[in-house]
Amino acid sequence: MSEVGERIAEIRYRIERARPGRQCQLMAVTKGQGGERIDQAIAAGVHLFGENRVQEAGAKWPRGTGAVKLHMIGHLQKNKINSAIPLFIAIDSIDSEGLAEALNARLTRRLSVMLQVNVGQEPSKFGVSSDAVRPFLAKAQKWSWLKFDGILAVLPQARDSSAAEGKRIRRLMQETSELWRSCQIDQWPWAPLPELSMGMSGDFEWAVEAGATIVRIGQGIFGPRG
Ligand SMILES: *Cc1c(COP(=O)(O)O)cnc(C)c1O
Repeated sequence: MSEVGERIAEIRYRIERARPGRQCQLMAVTKGQGGERIDQAIAAGVHLFGENRVQEAGAKWPRGTGAVKLHMIGHLQKNKINSAIPLFIAIDSIDSEGLAEALNARLTRRLSVMLQVNVGQEPSKFGVSSDAVRPFLAKAQKWSWLKFDGILAVLPQARDSSAAEGKRIRRLMQETSELWRSCQIDQWPWAPLPELSMGMSGDFEWAVEAGATIVRIGQGIFGPRG
């Protein structure tokens, strides 16, 4: 088995151990990674991939990626919308009303999207605040080509490995999960929200415990980005 394959097996095991019996998909984040490692991930049975830049994704992923599902998970600039539409099966990084508006205006078919939430309200990160999630989704019907299939949560990194920091991050994850569930209860036809995409290499087990249905792992699978 390849090194990538071994890391994937280990991560799958840790996901299952964090929450036995619950389905959580593994998204392999391939930004900064080359073709051979991506092929190894596909060979290991990963079919969900995330890229955060349109240009890089376009160069690496030929059109018609077969059984592989490629999602956009990074900030989408408006001048890249036209190139992004044919490339991705879903855009998980809707981080403003302006982007939703602009994307909807360019579409001629329904597209699966997620609302990106900047849980810690960090100025360096994109996404709406937790408080804005419900009002945003409640009016998302007006973007008739967008189907909100989930929430993509970006969380602060733990500042250190102390128990207090761990507790803080886990509480934020728990709150985000509760917010996601409470929005599901509204049963908006345009926002069924089956997915909660939360957790990265350093914190995915906490995210799985909190109820994430997708974890996004880059370095934990592929090693340091080149
Ligand atoms: C890079 C990235 C990840 C993966 O981060 P790792 O620390 O490499 O696991 C997850 N989500 C988003 C949005 C990213 O940009």
